[in-house]
Amino acid sequence: MTTTRPGSLSALRLANQRRLLSALQDGRQISQAELARLTGLAPATVSGLVRDLADEGELVVGEGVANGRRSRMVQRAPGRLRYGIGMYLGRAHVEAVAGTEAGDLLAESSAELARGYAPDAAAEAVVALATEVRERAGLTPDQVFGVAVAVPAPVDVRTGTLTEPVILPALVGVPLRERLREALGRPVVVENDANLGALALTRRAGAGPGPLVYVKVATGIGAGVAVDGRLVRGAAGSAGEIGHLPLDPGLTTVCRCGRRGCLETVGSAESVRAALAGALRRDLATADVHDLIAAGHPVAVRVLEDAGEALGRGLGWLSMVVDPAEIVLGGPLTAAGDAWLGPVERGFRRAVLPGVARRTRITLSPLGESTEAVGALIASLMENSHIAVEMRTDKQDVNA
Ligand SMILES: [Zn+2]
Repeated sequence: MTTTRPGSLSALRLANQRRLLSALQDGRQISQAELARLTGLAPATVSGLVRDLADEGELVVGEGVANGRRSRMVQRAPGRLRYGIGMYLGRAHVEAVAGTEAGDLLAESSAELARGYAPDAAAEAVVALATEVRERAGLTPDQVFGVAVAVPAPVDVRTGTLTEPVILPALVGVPLRERLREALGRPVVVENDANLGALALTRRAGAGPGPLVYVKVATGIGAGVAVDGRLVRGAAGSAGEIGHLPLDPGLTTVCRCGRRGCLETVGSAESVRAALAGALRRDLATADVHDLIAAGHPVAVRVLEDAGEALGRGLGWLSMVVDPAEIVLGGPLTAAGDAWLGPVERGFRRAVLPGVARRTRITLSPLGESTEAVGALIASLMENSHIAVEMRTDKQDVNA
């Protein structure tokens, strides 16, 4: 496999090519001027890249009219769609999907991981599963445009490293993206799972302009915030870590972050399981919790209502900062449907101003349990472009 030295002229050109192709990945025809605007690249750079990519058969160029003026129109050549691999690396398992830019899934696979795994074991499991799903999809390594890995923790996407020591501590400071890139020989993105969920939802048919908040509620609670279709990550990826909002410092439960009153101790799927197990005085697995909720067990219903209302209050706090048009919920509790959504809405409406309560839509993710994996697939096909476009301070990456 040929490797390109980071920072070299050819690496820069490749990054710019990827950015340009990403902007055209939905197959529509757009003008060269619009391409420059979308990619943040200089018009002369776009012009040169389009000429070369048309020579290589990647693009079709023609004359057309844009904004009332005759323009050079550019489109992806038919049959030149790319393939990517989207992955999820959790606390106890890893998942992978291989698919196309059009969102068609070609293959899926998953594997168990021992809890408390070492970084080496995690990297090996990711590489093995990425290879397995690629082979199942019938793809050669060179056909894979990129790989994106979702993790339930804050990530600095510039380096692909986890940044908060209390969440997935084994991986903090490990150069995960570099290690995977070396092992797989493809571009790799490592990104927070809720951010990737938000990315998937902003790309779905009929998505509004936002702002959109996607909330993954599982062992912890994380939010991905998208404004004007772009993710708000913060300085090092901790934006949207609402699981550690100090909702009620008087609460008795100490959070895994070492503080009291965090939202995840009262509003997460794990808090529902733990509260129910405590009330019924027996061990419960996640599947048992689902069964009790589905059967309408009065203790399960009460615990779910309390957790939903607490989550709604936390979302209210976030909304007073972001004022989202839409909040979308994901994670295992979505299986409970209205029995969970109703209390979340109630808690939310009590916590916000009347106008916000009236305007903000709260829904369950239409992508279900695949929300983060679909987001990772989209990110795998965008590779560096979505990061670079959002990080305009990194000028050397923007113009050739
Ligand atoms: Zn906490």
